Amino acid sequence: RAGAAELVRVEGISKSFPGVRALNDVSLTIRPGEVHALTGENGSGKSTLSRIIAGMMKPDEGRIFVDGRECTIDSPAAALGMGIVMISQELTLAPTLTVAENIFLGRLPRTRLGLVDWSRLEEDAALALARLDVHVSPHARVGDLSVEFRQEVEIARALSANARLLILDEATSSLSEAATARLLERVRQERDAGMAILMITHRMPEIYAVSSVATVLRDGNLVATVALPEATESQLVRLMVGREINDF
Ligand code: ADP
Ligand code: MG
Repeated sequence: RAGAAELVRVEGISKSFPGVRALNDVSLTIRPGEVHALTGENGSGKSTLSRIIAGMMKPDEGRIFVDGRECTIDSPAAALGMGIVMISQELTLAPTLTVAENIFLGRLPRTRLGLVDWSRLEEDAALALARLDVHVSPHARVGDLSVEFRQEVEIARALSANARLLILDEATSSLSEAATARLLERVRQERDAGMAILMITHRMPEIYAVSSVATVLRDGNLVATVALPEATESQLVRLMVGREINDF
């Protein structure tokens, strides 16, 4: 872990909403081949931080570095251009479009005449799905799929867009136990293939199943970044809820 390259680093990120300081001077580093868990109680600022990294929201203060170079990530498209993709509780796919269209939305393959190349679209989509072992038709309308399949389509989209950082914001919260296990297995595979993953969750078993580092937020403040599994579950929970600890 030590000395591994950094993919994304945020420094001194602050963000306020009317009446609440959602993030206060938060810094963290996300490395390739590593699952970095981001945890903390409800309202601690996890989604705000992930939205800022994914280009969905601008910080009031702070800097973001990708591959060591300072960047402005001012839209999800800009984030995608840097290889950053977020998968959240609110699915971001277009329900009326097909699976294939969703996977390549914003970068549909074109013919020499500039028209959408539907046969290539279908072929590429089928390949992307097969590579992930996702058994869903490229022709299916996304709005007709279960949450699990929609999430798989989102992941297929992320991977086929050459994502390097996958941000999962409570992605398992609406999944069955079996689908959660499959998603965690997918996370493990992508991690081992060199993907950087920022996994937001407060479910301890999920954190320990895949993460080697965890950052704990409380009321918008970074409480600690700790190595796993060296830091125990009870230590993590105490960091989350804010009881003073001396045995750390
Ligand atoms: P978490 O994901 O850890 O539950 P959030 O980042 O969603 O926390 O929220 C952090 C704080 O910021 C909360 O107090 C929340 O109510 C507030 N907040 C988040 N997004 C907005 C918003 N768009 N407008 C106003 N307040 C917000
Ligand atoms: Mg949240």
